[in-house]
Formats: sequence, structure tokens, C-alpha cells
Amino acid sequence: MSEVRDGGLNGALSDVLLTGSAPTRPRFSFEVFPARSGAAALALGNAVQHLAAAGPDFISVTYGANGSNRGASRDLVKYLRDHTDALPLAHLTTVGESRDAILEAIHGIMDTGVHDFLALRGDPPRGSDESDPAVAGSLSSLELVKLVAQARAERPAFTSVGRTSVAAYPNGHPLSRSRSEDLDWLVAKQEAGAQFAITQLFFRAEEYLEFVADGRGAGLTIPVLPGLMPVATAAQLRKVAELAGRPAPSELVREIEDAGGYAPELGVEHTTALARELLAGGAPSLHLYTFNRHERVLAVLRELELLAPVGV
Ligand code: FAD
Repeated sequence: MSEVRDGGLNGALSDVLLTGSAPTRPRFSFEVFPARSGAAALALGNAVQHLAAAGPDFISVTYGANGSNRGASRDLVKYLRDHTDALPLAHLTTVGESRDAILEAIHGIMDTGVHDFLALRGDPPRGSDESDPAVAGSLSSLELVKLVAQARAERPAFTSVGRTSVAAYPNGHPLSRSRSEDLDWLVAKQEAGAQFAITQLFFRAEEYLEFVADGRGAGLTIPVLPGLMPVATAAQLRKVAELAGRPAPSELVREIEDAGGYAPELGVEHTTALARELLAGGAPSLHLYTFNRHERVLAVLRELELLAPVGV
């Protein structure tokens, strides 16, 4: 059995989680996804080394997006565990899986020495939708939070380590009918044992800040990490708008189009400005969707002076 690293999230985020105190210095974390080809895997290996060297609280790894690639997710969390100093956090989804299969997947990840999870219901697999009985009948994210707790209890040596996080939707989830339903559901996930939440992408600081403020009013006490992605292309911008459930700022759309559809520096500029507003508004940490590239997210952190200067 491999040694258990650290027992949870590092640094200031740990303080926030353990004591509820404000971090002395804003923290950050990253999201990556399993590579889809050998060449992409080589590039990802290089990217995660750079990301890990920046000293994040954790690097999260997406799981079975569209019902595929699950073994690859496990391999990637194990790679992070074995070959970097970063703490891996494994996404888990329930869609289309039996309770026993999910429990086995959780144990499989714990056996790699990884104990931190993001518990998700998951998107319907390609070619399926919410009306599919296999999707509708899946365990909820709430039940998954409880299943992770059960899996930890079944591995007594690890009961004191690892944290469970969940997703939050500042602009609402497509399944939700109202802000209050989203917040009630998030508070229910907290009551089931979730220790922090990570948000879906969004473009404007007030969307996060108002969501968190409303959440506090509804009994939400756990930290909510804003999810941000510095886009490089017009296609990525459209994808973020789809996930955010809101149109991208028209000026950013126009500027990227004027640059011929590729303008990584504009994505960095927009994300840096957004991050400044979020941190000023009280966000405890930034969760950066990397799109498996290190350059843009590290440029954002450098602009925010959250990275140690090179050579120090
Ligand atoms: P839930 O939180 O369970 O539900 C989403 C919303 O639906 C709730 O906020 C609530 O409004 C409503 N709802 C659901 N059930 C109820 C109920 N019983 N009562 C009232 N309201 C309810 N997908 C992947 O496939 N793989 C990934 O790795 C992945 N990573 C993600 C990471 C982050 C940070 C985020 C934000 C999303 C990620 N997703 C991923 C997408 C996610 O799986 C989808 O958005 C999915 O449709 C919902 O999953 P969830 O766990 O957020 O669902």
C-alpha cells in the first residue's frame, strides 16, 4: 500500500476548511482531463509537471465525461500521485452505474493512494439524455457523497483523510427550476458530508458573488471555489458560454473574432480581471480549468502575483 500523502488539501485552503478562517493568501487549484491520444498524453505529462510545480492545493481529474474514459481517469490520478508533488482530487460520476460498481470504483481510486473526491451525478452519455431511464435512475450526487463516506469507513486506515467536494452552479443547473432549488440541493449535499464546492464556469463576478451570498443566507457554510477558464479560441468561448448558461461578454467575443478566432492573451486578460474581482469579493481560492495546457493558467496566476517568481 502506498503512503498516504498529506491527508488532504494543503495550505490556506486547509485552514479555511478546518477552521473557517480566511486564507492569508489566495490559493488556487487546477482541473485536467485524461488525454485522448498518445501524443496528447505526452503533452499532458509535460503540462502537469508545470502545473504541479506551481504549488496548487490540488489538481482535479475529470471522470468518465460522456460515459467514457474511466480507466484513463484512474490512471491519471495515479500518475499525479506517483509522479508529482500535487495532491490529486478524483472526479466521480454515477450516471449509468450500479451502486456496487461505483463503490468498487471508489475503492479502486483509494487503492492508488488518492482520497479526495469531487462527487457528481455526471452528464448523460453521448446519444442519451435525461429522459433515458438509465440516466434518470442513476444515483444522485447526494447519494454519491454518502457512498464516498461509506467507502472511507470501509477503509479504517483512511477514515481521517481525504475530503469530498461537490459541484455548484452560479447561473443554475439545467435540471433546476429556480435559484432556491439549486441552493437547497447544494445545502443538502453539504449536510450529506460535502466539505467544499467547485462552481461551473461563469463570466461575471457578480454571478458567483450573489450566488454565494444567497447560499450563505440559505445555510451554506462550506467554501465555494469559483471555476475559471482562460479561453484561447472562439470555439472555447462558445463552449464556456454553453456551460455557463449565459452569453459571453460581447466585447470579448468581438475582440477574439477580430483577432481571427485565436487570442490566448485576451482569455488571460479577461480571467485575470475576473479573478481580481472574485478575490476582492471574498472568494477563498481559484479553481482553474486548464484545458490540459499550463501556459494560460500560469500566466493568470503570474498576473495575480500568486506564483513565486522564477528562480526563487
Ligand atoms: P447534482 O448536483 O446532483 O444536480 C444538479 C442540479 O440539478 C442541482 O443543482 C439541482 O438544481 C438539480 N437537482 C438534481 N437533483 C435534484 C433533486 N433531487 N432535488 C432538487 N434539485 C435537484 N461531468 C462529468 O461527466 N464528468 C466530470 O468529471 C465532471 N466534472 C465537473 C466538474 C465541475 C466543477 C462541475 C461544475 C461539473 C462537472 N461535470 C462533470 C458536469 C456534471 O456532471 C453535470 O452538470 C451533471 O448534469 C450534474 O451533476 P451534479 O453532480 O452537479 O448534479
